[in-house]
Amino acid sequence: MTAPSRPAFRVDTSVCSGCKACQIACQDRNGLEAGRLWRRVYEVAGGDWHSEGAAWRPDIFAYNLSLSCNHCEAPICAEVCPSGAMHTREDGLVLLNEDACLGCGYCGWACPYGAPQLRADAGVMSKCTFCVEDLDEGRAPACVSACPVRALDFESGMPQEAPPRIDPLPDPELTRPALVLKAHADAGRAHDRDLDIEPGLPHGLREWSLVLFTLLVQMAVGLSVGLGLVRPWLGPVAGTAGQILVPSLTLVAMAVSALHLGRPRNMIRAVANLRWSWLSREILLAVGFLGLGLWAVVTDAVLVRQWLLPVSGVGLLVGMSRVYMLRTVPVWNRVRTQVGFGVTGFLPGLILPAVPLLMEKGAVAGWAASSVWTVGLGLAIWQRSRFYGAYVRRGV
Ligand code: SF4
Ligand code: SF4
Repeated sequence: MTAPSRPAFRVDTSVCSGCKACQIACQDRNGLEAGRLWRRVYEVAGGDWHSEGAAWRPDIFAYNLSLSCNHCEAPICAEVCPSGAMHTREDGLVLLNEDACLGCGYCGWACPYGAPQLRADAGVMSKCTFCVEDLDEGRAPACVSACPVRALDFESGMPQEAPPRIDPLPDPELTRPALVLKAHADAGRAHDRDLDIEPGLPHGLREWSLVLFTLLVQMAVGLSVGLGLVRPWLGPVAGTAGQILVPSLTLVAMAVSALHLGRPRNMIRAVANLRWSWLSREILLAVGFLGLGLWAVVTDAVLVRQWLLPVSGVGLLVGMSRVYMLRTVPVWNRVRTQVGFGVTGFLPGLILPAVPLLMEKGAVAGWAASSVWTVGLGLAIWQRSRFYGAYVRRGV
């Protein structure tokens, strides 16, 4: 039997008892270790107490919501995936090719449902497959089979119109999830609730490599622009040293960024999705900037060091900021955040060539210049940590 066209999960939140049989069946069927849940059952609850004369009456509500990957029609996970590992099958199922995955976690950031989750033992992402092997043989997914009250089901053929927005889920227009949801009578009261969707990727210490990568690259770009402006006034030693520093910083940054990957040996695949993924484009731009930086050192050609290198660097900054302008992560997808993101890393690099120039003017000027530079660098590190720490999936 062939797979049905565009399968969609159907969830009736008005009858779901929250027993979690679907969650456990999924874990069992897919051999998921503790903590990795491709399907999760959330409890949405709220309400308050109201006084009626001398009495206090509860006015509370609670219902359950079973969620997994929704195999979206506009799957942002596949859009941003640099390697093309996340892809859409002909019938609309969004699947992951583990062999091509870098373990960069970008899909996990972008998905507003927190569906892709890191498989730590293999360094790759993982997510609901809609039990594709069963589906292709005409059987229902394990979660659907396990639901004792038929609150969870699946069907073929998504309705053409976008599903309505149901609090506290993300705006369905963002990814057009293949999810047919029957809302609980109290769903309208959940507009101020956060669905605490667990991130698919631990956002803690893992980000230190990205903090370093983005700061070092932005500093290298700032330095290339600064050198382009003041190189004629710099001595030959300071000028050459600055020029060598540009590709050196970039190279170190790129090496550090590989530490962020769960499967660095797949790094070469990171430019496979130039058509859609800004991460692929950023990597290509970084390689171009590095090449021009090395070229400027070897040839000292004015055209390269004064024009091509800074211009390609600015292009790289734009590409870098686009990586984080995800429509599903509003806290990053705004101009103010992006300006802070780019400028704070760029400025310490830009003013670096001025430090030796001012030092030649005397001790006080030199001390002031190096103090400003140090403060600028400190601010950049602080801003960058806040930037990654501000990541929230909620509120979309
Ligand atoms: Fe699944 Fe999220 Fe991708 Fe939608 S965006 S297909 S929910 S992983
Ligand atoms: Fe997700 Fe990155 Fe793997 Fe693509 S390469 S599936 S974005 S972790």
